[in-house]
Amino acid sequence: MAKVSFEKVTKVYSNGFKAVHGIDLEIKDGEFMVMVGPSGCAKSTTLRMLAGLETISGGRIRIGEAVVNNLAPKERGIAMVFQNYALYPHMTVRENLGFGLKLAKLSKADIDKHVEEAAELLELTPLLDRLPRQLSGGQAQRVAVGRAIVKRPAVFLFDEPLSNLDAKLRASMRVRISDLHKALKKSNRSATTVYVTHDQTEAMTMGDRICVMKDGHIMQVDTPANLYKAP
Ligand code: ADP
Ligand code: ADP
Repeated sequence: MAKVSFEKVTKVYSNGFKAVHGIDLEIKDGEFMVMVGPSGCAKSTTLRMLAGLETISGGRIRIGEAVVNNLAPKERGIAMVFQNYALYPHMTVRENLGFGLKLAKLSKADIDKHVEEAAELLELTPLLDRLPRQLSGGQAQRVAVGRAIVKRPAVFLFDEPLSNLDAKLRASMRVRISDLHKALKKSNRSATTVYVTHDQTEAMTMGDRICVMKDGHIMQVDTPANLYKAP
């Protein structure tokens, strides 16, 4: 379990453009934080700095108590789910789920255990022997989420994970990801989540709290009920 803190974090890209202007944000242990805002407001830059995929120009990011500014992505205890979640086409669902653990040199018994547990959480058990081309879009995206879960990260990062799905699938995946977060929390598994989206419905229905960004600044951080209540 781990909280995440941003302390006066800035990002200046190499062309001199200042994308993030000294943001402060604390995400509590186990919290589901949704980052929303219009395209270009720096949601993705912020998430990528947390993931270690983009350098931090100023300030500090902590995961737990550790300052992660200079840590490589795999040293941060995070797992990320992307919009373009390309699965390995020649590997079965089971092999796709276990691949990262195999690279990390876990024993076969441990890999099987983690993979079967993730498959159960995501209702993928009947699909473990299928190839990606035999899956629907929603099933494939569940495998992508499963690949993050098997790593047992301290923090889950989602970057617009549902943007490529049709409206009906998006609706059912919203519920699945929320339920998954609850299930992980209930079993005392780490479930701190940072979820980036431009979709208001996702923000409202999934977030414990919502962080609203605009032009590289944080405008508001509050619960969905407080943010969206009638004026
Ligand atoms: P860096 O992350 O070091 O800025 P990149 O390889 O990401 O370098 O991008 C190289 C250059 O391309 C940037 O300096 C910038 O001028 C331009 N660029 C890339 N992506 C974007 C973007 N989303 N918006 C504006 N300019 C961009
Ligand atoms: P969002 O995820 O909210 O759509 P981004 O984090 O992708 O926003 O981008 C924030 C701002 O930073 C935008 O103005 C974008 O053009 C700019 N930007 C993103 N990547 C780069 C880059 N590599 N170089 C220069 N500017 C960039």
